[in-house]
Amino acid sequence: MTTAQTTELDVQPTPLALLLLGREADPKSERGVECPGDLPSPSDPDLVERARAAKEKLGDKVFVLGHHYQRDEVIQFADVTGDSFKLAKDAAARPEAEYIVFCGVHFMAESADILTSDDQKVVLPDLAAGCSMADMATAEQVAECWDVLTEAGIAEQVVPVSYMNSSADIKAFTGKHGGTICTSSNAQRALEWAFEQGEKILFLPDQHLGRNTAVRDLGLSLEDCVLYNPHKPNGGLTAEQLRDAKMILWRGHCSVHGRFSLESVEDVRARIPGVNVLVHPECRHEVVAAADYVGSTEYIIKALEAAPAGSKWAIGTELNLVRRLANRFAPEGKEIVFLDKTVCFCSTMNRIDLPHLVWTLESLAEGKLVNRIQVDQETEAFAKLALERMLALP
Ligand code: SF4
Repeated sequence: MTTAQTTELDVQPTPLALLLLGREADPKSERGVECPGDLPSPSDPDLVERARAAKEKLGDKVFVLGHHYQRDEVIQFADVTGDSFKLAKDAAARPEAEYIVFCGVHFMAESADILTSDDQKVVLPDLAAGCSMADMATAEQVAECWDVLTEAGIAEQVVPVSYMNSSADIKAFTGKHGGTICTSSNAQRALEWAFEQGEKILFLPDQHLGRNTAVRDLGLSLEDCVLYNPHKPNGGLTAEQLRDAKMILWRGHCSVHGRFSLESVEDVRARIPGVNVLVHPECRHEVVAAADYVGSTEYIIKALEAAPAGSKWAIGTELNLVRRLANRFAPEGKEIVFLDKTVCFCSTMNRIDLPHLVWTLESLAEGKLVNRIQVDQETEAFAKLALERMLALP
């Protein structure tokens, strides 16, 4: 469980699936609670200058992390960019920075808090920046699932593997039950390790990464995988189905990567002859099966760096990153397009904008700690255990 410290607001849960203006509150969800304070106006012409001045005033006391899916207006102030795990490690490697401003989403800030020292304070510029995928697996639902597995007589054979994109509570559950965390870069190694520890895997919360890795990289069949739906009694599965399965996939997905379809792949191939289709493993199985290359965000960046001039690429991942890569590699004669025809930003990532960053940096420069993300000690201990098992993966 995390606490998000700002001010003593009496926040109310909201039934909204998405918090529309980034100013609502949902303390029960991974998204945290309302962002207080008066934000600067988005039309303030001095925002860039204000962010620069506040950052300069803070000096080495602040370290700004920018996830690859962040807007350019935010990324320009990042001291480092990367995926969530790289950023958490970067923060831990800068112990002199008292404030870690995480331009990303809530679970990432939690992971940074877990991996940094107690003296470092992790700050999320907008507490409504959550992750819809992480929200698809709550601690209560996962505990209930474990009861179902116990009832079916298989819990002892099951090793949980949780994707980095999960709340601290889910990481702690994983650590407590002998499992590990994985990223999209090391999911294959994590699954191989887990199959050495037990006979079955409970993969949380992204069904697509779990299925794609099991089938593409480990050679399991689709029939070896079952889908556990936390909204149905017993996950919608019989005890026999659970006993026969090798991979028990949690019914969660990324709302951004889940949008790409087989049709988008066929369409781009028809529009751009010779195009290479490169997608993230959070995409659906049929999309991954139809792509030429599949890999994590870091893999995508490296593949484009290594691509020859004149090559053409359709990329299936978040639009802010694809646009940035298209601009970066255009002078080298590499044609890079977004895989889908429609806009596909991560709406929660996009909640972190320049006004929120300015407000955060100016508050910190005035000595006011805002939007701190802090994981409680017990959760942190078990979550760290799961993260350390990942770091020790062969
Ligand atoms: S891109 Fe998907 S997994 Fe990443 S933060 Fe957004 S919703 Fe979550």
